[in-house]
Amino acid sequence: MSAKILIVEDEPAIQELLAFNVEKAGFQASCAGSAERAWQQVRENKPDLILLDWMLPDTSGVVLAKQLRADAGTKAIPIIMLTARGEERDKVAGLESGADDYITKPFSPRELMARIRAVLRRHAPQAPDETVAAGGLELLPGAHRVSAMGREIELGPTEFRLLHFFMTHAERVYSRTQLLDQVWGTQTFVEERTVDVHIRRLRAVLEPAGMDNLIQTVRGSGYRFSVN
Ligand code: CA
Repeated sequence: MSAKILIVEDEPAIQELLAFNVEKAGFQASCAGSAERAWQQVRENKPDLILLDWMLPDTSGVVLAKQLRADAGTKAIPIIMLTARGEERDKVAGLESGADDYITKPFSPRELMARIRAVLRRHAPQAPDETVAAGGLELLPGAHRVSAMGREIELGPTEFRLLHFFMTHAERVYSRTQLLDQVWGTQTFVEERTVDVHIRRLRAVLEPAGMDNLIQTVRGSGYRFSVN
């Protein structure tokens, strides 16, 4: 069954263009022109992904993303934010509101479809015990073991969870707040600086194998695990 994509966009021409491309790519599209309509669609259609415009007539996309994230029934639905704004701080605000990715208008349909596929892939249910391998590292969640180029390395529990998260979410930037939510859980009250401490420890363990550069610092945004 093809994934259901909800398009939340108030400009009819853009809404139509998005729906056309989404359906052409083989997904099912539904549309909403306001945050209120979006909630209705979310309840009725249970979308697999939401394309969310930043500027809406009633509630802003950022506020709507936060509301979707705060609701137990909708918090797991991935969101790609669409916006005319391209500034770095807007990007961070968009991602911190809970969006999974961000795309600036004007965008090519091909780029948007690639982002949609990537986000859907990241959200595809994954067996929690599945072995993950990337960049010469191999991580066995069940056995709580990690090896670098075949040699076992020792990691603390937080570094282990952090590395597991990074390896299963490679090539994209996560802010400290997002890492806290994903790795530490939203119920904990940990300072953002804690993330830096654990990143340092993780890099220190990877350094002897020459793999500390897998964990990249993205200035002003956060961290990324990248094998490139
Ligand atoms: Ca708009």
